[in-house]
Amino acid sequence: MTTLSKKPTRQVRRALARQTPEQQSQRLTDQILSEAAAQASVAAAAQITGAHLTDAELHTWRQDMEARLRVIQQHPEQNLGHIEEELARLAKEPLRLLAERAAQAKANATACQCLKCQRELIHQKFISRRVDSRFGSLLLWRRYGWCPHCEGWQFPADHALGLGRQAPASPYLQEISALLVSKMPAEQAVLVAERLGLDLSRCGMHREAYRQGLKAQARRAEAVAELDTWEDIQKLSRYAEGPPVQPFTLLIQIDAWNIRERDDWGQTEALRQQGKKPERWHWVYLATVFRLDHRGQTAGQRPFITERGFVATRGGIESLTAQLYREAIARGLGQAQQVLVIADGAVWIWNLVKDRFPNARQQLDLYHAEEHLWAVAHELYGRGTPEALAWVSPLLQQVREDESPAVIATLNELKPRLLQAQQEKLQSQIEYFEHNAERMKYKEIIAARKACAAGSATAEQIKLANQPLGSGAVESTCRQYQCRFKRTGQFWTTPGDEALMCLETFWRNNRWPELYPHAKPTSAMN
Ligand SMILES: [Zn+2]
Repeated sequence: MTTLSKKPTRQVRRALARQTPEQQSQRLTDQILSEAAAQASVAAAAQITGAHLTDAELHTWRQDMEARLRVIQQHPEQNLGHIEEELARLAKEPLRLLAERAAQAKANATACQCLKCQRELIHQKFISRRVDSRFGSLLLWRRYGWCPHCEGWQFPADHALGLGRQAPASPYLQEISALLVSKMPAEQAVLVAERLGLDLSRCGMHREAYRQGLKAQARRAEAVAELDTWEDIQKLSRYAEGPPVQPFTLLIQIDAWNIRERDDWGQTEALRQQGKKPERWHWVYLATVFRLDHRGQTAGQRPFITERGFVATRGGIESLTAQLYREAIARGLGQAQQVLVIADGAVWIWNLVKDRFPNARQQLDLYHAEEHLWAVAHELYGRGTPEALAWVSPLLQQVREDESPAVIATLNELKPRLLQAQQEKLQSQIEYFEHNAERMKYKEIIAARKACAAGSATAEQIKLANQPLGSGAVESTCRQYQCRFKRTGQFWTTPGDEALMCLETFWRNNRWPELYPHAKPTSAMN
């Protein structure tokens, strides 16, 4: 970085004092020359009002490009891939020049005013900075100054250009760092970026992605805080409303999984000596929200959901609840005819639902209920035995016919015949079914599906048949997040994983352009 301030630092003054007169005069000459060059460079930069390439520049570039393409054309072993690669590489320099000049013109056109109070800045000077961009390194000169009112040095052009204060990445490289590192480990991301013609190792891709994750978390916190007043909720709700729609059911599924984190960074040895492991497992809370009429099937019978919202956080149940509530409002909580929550039997989930979605219909994931019966069967008769199957089959049938009281009665009858240890295990299963009895209503859905298959379904049944029996949608979402955040041998720190998970969730929720306004929203980011 070069500044045009003239006063040498104390260190420089001391070094100068130690030099011989010849050295000093040589140094002075160098200094005068470099200052003159910097002055000329600022003067030239300050003149730029638009991005142009000169005819001479274009001419040289064109000749070079055509010559290189001729070489490839005549090379027996080079193909279209070589042509693509060479063109992308060659096009970078003229584009870099244009980007540098366009950014300089924008910096020049930016008023040198305080960003907070709009007052004109004083002690204005020019300072240069390097920016890593999509097309390579750019050198920019921008004016900065002091705001006596807010008491701070400010760089209004950096703000106008979307540049971070201490980070060299341009907004595009900020975005690409965030995108790639939230999808794959940073070491791989650097290599992928390199193949795509981006030099991201220089801007410290991992650090940049983390910075972006913090930005995303700040935006997320703002979005949740926006729900503080009734008007705000109405606004978000209206945004979700769109054109009038048919009555619909809003479906919420909630789950949690474990992530491995290394606690207390830097204290690994100390912890080991105390006989403690430096790693721990932490909960990641996850939820997904969508309208039932947005759920369909592909030609190959694979279920898909056209529009859905996601929430994922390491920040505890309270944080999950606040984020989920916001997402539910944005997805039509206020307009839904019915809200349905499907989840496994975890107590915290149903407490959350009672607290935030008191009118929602609650449904226990059918497959979890079945697993609990299988666990009893395995305990009694052994895993995979015909006796276990024979015992469990009528009970599975009863669950599907909404006869949970009969299931509980069977389990209770069984108890006196068991050993003490088995009785205790069985008791916990009995309690599971007792606590969830009201949430076990599957009969009508199954009947509706059968009627659809037989072609005799009523309109009501056609709708009902589309209602899921289990929480497969959130479970598959968990698996997708785990692909990135639960790899073998991978450790996370809480701030690191929350930041990247937050980026991933913005992407999935189609809210990427909120973080990167230059990015066009894609139709199916999830
Ligand atoms: Zn100010």
